[in-house]
Amino acid sequence: MTTRNAAKLPSQEEICYTVETLSVVRCPQDGKAPWNTMASSAVNASAAPADPTILSRSAHSISRSQIDENTLKVLYRLHRNGYQAYLVGGSVRDLLLGRTPKDFDIGTDATPQQVKKLFRNCFLVGRRFRLAHIRFGSDQVIEVATFRRHPHPDELPEDPEEHGTFLQNQFGTPREDAFRRDFTINALFYNIADFSIVDHVGGLQDLKDCRLRVIGVPGVRFAEDPVRMLRALEFSARLGFSLETETLDAIAENAQIIAEAAPARVREELLELFRHGVGAEVLQRAQSLGLLQPLMGGYQAGETTFKLLASLNQSFRKTGNVDESMILACLFIDRFWQKCPVHASLPINEVLLSAGHLLTPYCNHFRLAHGLRHQAREMLVGCYRFARGLGHRGQKRFLLNPETPRALEMFRLWNQASDGEPGLVETWQKALHTGHEPADKPVRPPGRRTHHRPRRRRRSKQNPGSG
Ligand code: ATP
Ligand code: MG
Repeated sequence: MTTRNAAKLPSQEEICYTVETLSVVRCPQDGKAPWNTMASSAVNASAAPADPTILSRSAHSISRSQIDENTLKVLYRLHRNGYQAYLVGGSVRDLLLGRTPKDFDIGTDATPQQVKKLFRNCFLVGRRFRLAHIRFGSDQVIEVATFRRHPHPDELPEDPEEHGTFLQNQFGTPREDAFRRDFTINALFYNIADFSIVDHVGGLQDLKDCRLRVIGVPGVRFAEDPVRMLRALEFSARLGFSLETETLDAIAENAQIIAEAAPARVREELLELFRHGVGAEVLQRAQSLGLLQPLMGGYQAGETTFKLLASLNQSFRKTGNVDESMILACLFIDRFWQKCPVHASLPINEVLLSAGHLLTPYCNHFRLAHGLRHQAREMLVGCYRFARGLGHRGQKRFLLNPETPRALEMFRLWNQASDGEPGLVETWQKALHTGHEPADKPVRPPGRRTHHRPRRRRRSKQNPGSG
């Protein structure tokens, strides 16, 4: 059990202040720039008090009714069997901020094997980082992680190749586990034994002050895991929390090393930005800090693209769906117009080829599925068709294509971002709605039969070479 230190408990006044502040805390967000910065104050294990700050049940706003039922079941079973069981990570942060957590993660001192013994529906996953996944029904997985620690450099294996696995699997105390996390507000624990909040790193104060603080020295923590730089920008934007100047400087200094992060992981974090509606502002901020290029395989964007991404994010919010192929097409549409200007009247085949060439390096970098690239390419070509207006060959088929409405939505967003002519979008919307070929039919050169295809001559079976 976590040692409690009565002297460390906040006074009643502090408690009321904390509870009130935490339950009503509203930081600048939803479209407002959260990029205010503040002076730095490092959080490190040796300087922090040995005992955590503990807020008893009456001193905070988290109630069990806000916690998912199956998560509570897991917490209780671990606790009944003599293990420490905490709600950890983003769920505690979000509950304290009055937000709905995306998921509930559990931390415990039971090893993955011990967790497995307690739950029939438990599966151990991860080669490097062993985790217990407890499944409920067909669609819920609760992640249970054993408390881990940062080993001392002397303890590391001689072979540097083994460092990663070794580092990930050093079990530790709750305090050690808190200090290996990324930001103070992500290192708060909710203890099921007495429903208290346990804070080893000063996260409660940071929640109150609306600031995102890296645990440890930012430069060192970013060098350990460069993806933390992107997470810093993400959480700052999502919550409207300020970033310390030291953190921003460390991002600018270490930006290049993010190129070494696994593309699959970066891609997942990028999608996460759009799921939380902060894709545009985080990418723009990343660009200003020199992080975007190494992050996205050399990609850079202009003002209009960021404006477009912001509208795209708003449209995702309305539908509740994040469409990766549309993100991809939006990232490249500005460059696409440069390669394929509408006034150049290029044949569609050529446009198709150019769009494909544009997307290929990025898709290869992130190893995106062929289908995704195909959809994004079709969307770009769709925009080209919309931009050149009604009355061209193949228009009827294009209007009947089930993908066309998506392309038109993207064209609408692009038009909005680039202050284009809204009348064109409306005309196409009408044409799409009625499904009829518009009055001004394609003009074809007289005497040319566009549907005529020369027949192929059959090869004779007996003599395949002849014919
Ligand atoms: P959300 O799920 O709402 O996006 P989260 O804080 O729960 O936010 P997760 O990615 O689910 O984020 O991670 C869960 C927790 O794991 C984090 O709160 C943090 O404590 C820890 N964590 C995640 N990624 C890292 C990292 N790269 N370095 C250190 N700790 C991390
Ligand atoms: Mg989470």
